[in-house]
Amino acid sequence: MASERQFPRPPRLSRRSLLGGAAAAAGAATLTATGSGTASAATLPMVDVAIVGAGLAGLTAARDLVAAGKSVVVLEARDRVGGRVVGLDLAGGGVTEGGGEFIGPTQNRIKALADSLGVQTFATYNTGDNLLYKDGKKTPYATDGVLGAVPPIDAAGLANAAIVQATLDDLAKQIPVDAPWTAAKADEWDRQTFETWLRANAVIPSAKFLFDVACTSIFSAEPRELSFLFVLFYIAAAGDSANPGTLERLTETAGGAQELRFVGGSQLVPVKLAATLGDRVVLNAPVRTIARSGGGYVVTADGVTVTAKKVVVAVPPPIAARITYDPVLPASRDQLTQRLPMASVGKAIAIYDTPFWRADGLNGQVVSDTGVISSTFDNSPPDASYGALMGFIEADEARKLDAASEAEVRAAVLKDYATYFGAKAASPTSFVLQRWNNETYTRGGPVSIAAPGVLTQYGPALRTPVGGIHWAGTETSTYWMGFMDGAVRSGERVAKEVLAAL
Ligand SMILES: Cc1cc2nc3c(=O)[nH]c(=O)nc-3n(C[C@H](O)[C@H](O)[C@H](O)COP(=O)(O)OP(=O)(O)OC[C@H]3O[C@@H](n4cnc5c(N)ncnc54)[C@H](O)[C@@H]3O)c2cc1C
Repeated sequence: MASERQFPRPPRLSRRSLLGGAAAAAGAATLTATGSGTASAATLPMVDVAIVGAGLAGLTAARDLVAAGKSVVVLEARDRVGGRVVGLDLAGGGVTEGGGEFIGPTQNRIKALADSLGVQTFATYNTGDNLLYKDGKKTPYATDGVLGAVPPIDAAGLANAAIVQATLDDLAKQIPVDAPWTAAKADEWDRQTFETWLRANAVIPSAKFLFDVACTSIFSAEPRELSFLFVLFYIAAAGDSANPGTLERLTETAGGAQELRFVGGSQLVPVKLAATLGDRVVLNAPVRTIARSGGGYVVTADGVTVTAKKVVVAVPPPIAARITYDPVLPASRDQLTQRLPMASVGKAIAIYDTPFWRADGLNGQVVSDTGVISSTFDNSPPDASYGALMGFIEADEARKLDAASEAEVRAAVLKDYATYFGAKAASPTSFVLQRWNNETYTRGGPVSIAAPGVLTQYGPALRTPVGGIHWAGTETSTYWMGFMDGAVRSGERVAKEVLAAL
């Protein structure tokens, strides 16, 4: 498993260089002795803000706080930055994305960040036909049909699907993205699962199939796992203040969230951002406790302790719940994080000498009703110097494979690729796998999900600071919650919040 591999590798920081840099960053800092941590723990100079997690959210918050003249330390559990955004290096050279990868229209904050760091984008390969694999039959279909890239199901199913999609978009317009639990019908919508709602509305089986696939592709969760209110919020969040969110923006390649990729791989964004922060970022430092001390906090990670006036926790909610807080958090906050599990996802990328499916008129994008992979993309580099097929392993299929060996997963994935793209697909030159459910500091993905009753009962605790502890991470975003853009927005929001409180 290639879970912690990356390319390029961010600079590894020694405690020595970190101490020097943090002291400089802190200005007239004083060393603060603590009795906690490991025997060899380094104690850093006091800072204005300690940030937990060097994903896009934590790094963006650090950028804005530093720009405002504040001293900052970012404590990161892994030996790399980027969190759910990771580049996997390939045996023959090159890099492919194991996590967050695509961006699209209205995702303006991640785009602005990438632009500021000189990370270029290119169009996701979308030339040629998509492929529907259903009931054992392969049907190519155009990406620019009357209804967009809609799989060619029967006419009754298509008509039903069009009504369901329009209804979802309409209902989503009633959701305030900063407080979905205040929607007029929030209670009614939060009493049912997406499955229940779909059964009542997507009444033609082929239409239900389309929404089932859309659901697992968007959330890596089954419709039965999700509150209908949460689904409407996610649709509402797929836009910006000038463009109401739509389901289409979540599912489409051209014009949607899968439109663009980053040249050199998406992890370049957090790697370059971390480089601007220098040794304020400490790797291999999983935070274990956040304890109130005087007017500030003592944050203890493995091997390092820091005292800070404020703390930003920029990790997914269920992972934030694994930190010990002293004093304990309010019940509403703790119970919220007990109820926002990560969805279940893996990515499998097979590498070939060429993207051979292109010669068959295919764009590499599949929608399937079978197998461990029901959705794929052409993940080849912009110069197509090699071919890469990327498939998502999602929801029930991901969970079934959690305990399988890499060889078993590889065999199952390549069987599907051969079914969709022919015998050549069974023999890649290399294969990489990223299984997020098994990652200690993420435990699933792409996002935390809410079952019925969670948003209406606990939603307000999502962003409400607890004393000097502030919450960030894509799950706290209004627009593009669950996406890289949401992570950046949350970092920007929390930096403002902390600056106002300092
Ligand atoms: C398979 C997959 C595909 C995806 N595809 C897309 C996509 O195409 N487009 C898109 O926009 N988004 C996508 N996403 C979602 C996107 O990657 C995330 O929304 C975003 O990266 C989240 O950033 P974050 O900073 O909020 O959290 P994270 O990236 O999870 O960062 C949290 C950081 O905190 C660290 N951490 C955890 N616990 C501790 C601790 N105790 N102490 C210190 N550090 C800790 C973690 O190691 C991590 O680095 C995908 C995600 C996955 C998993």
